[in-house]
Amino acid sequence: MKALLATSNPHKLDEIQAVIPDGTLDLVTLDWLTREYQDSFVEPEENANTFEGNAMIKARSYAKQSGWVTVADDSGLVVDALYFEPGVRSARYAGVKGPREEVDLANNRKLLEKLDGVPIKQRTARFVCIMTVAWPEGHERYERPLWARGEVNGRILLPEEADDRMHPEQGRGDQGFGYDPLFVLPADHPDFPGTTAAELTPDQKNAISHRGQAARKLVQMLTEEGLIEDVPTG
Ligand code: IMP
Repeated sequence: MKALLATSNPHKLDEIQAVIPDGTLDLVTLDWLTREYQDSFVEPEENANTFEGNAMIKARSYAKQSGWVTVADDSGLVVDALYFEPGVRSARYAGVKGPREEVDLANNRKLLEKLDGVPIKQRTARFVCIMTVAWPEGHERYERPLWARGEVNGRILLPEEADDRMHPEQGRGDQGFGYDPLFVLPADHPDFPGTTAAELTPDQKNAISHRGQAARKLVQMLTEEGLIEDVPTG
């Protein structure tokens, strides 16, 4: 079944499509719809204070605007010692705008500053992803969107564990994005103990990531409810 993935980020499309079994969901992006059908979309304001709320706002808004079955996700980092911040503000934590690398570094710097002096045992954190699917108006599932949650536990790197002590915000590892270089998997992780998310290859990350888990669960729910084939799109 073809469905819209409410993102313009091709990286996200590849990541999610890679973990979904062939022949289930065939995802297209907003950019693709714009190119194919000259559709234009109004970006909804993600003003909920939960991942669930924001993912649902995106999925329902784009399903309504496009007429397509729409998948959307919202994700972020939750740090216990910071009262669950940055949470839904993960992308804009430091308030810096600009190229992604600069934004990521500023966010990482702020995170380490906020955790200054916090000992290793209290640096626990998790990546959370909520993935939703919503149907357009008029469809029998319109009032019953589905959602799934994925979560990866870990902790935030100590500055002295970074590769470059002068620039601890660069953390360890050069893969991934966002907070990955500061996110350390637990010492008793079965596959990657003590590894940062930025030290994993894309395939390794997909296998364990919060987004990968949520995407697999969502497709399983759609399959179990017999919704994969039944739903017309567009
Ligand atoms: P969104 O789901 O694209 O809105 O992501 C929100 C923000 O959460 C990103 O900009 C990152 O700062 C952070 N984030 C979400 N997932 C990851 C991840 O897998 N690695 C690192 N940071 C992430």
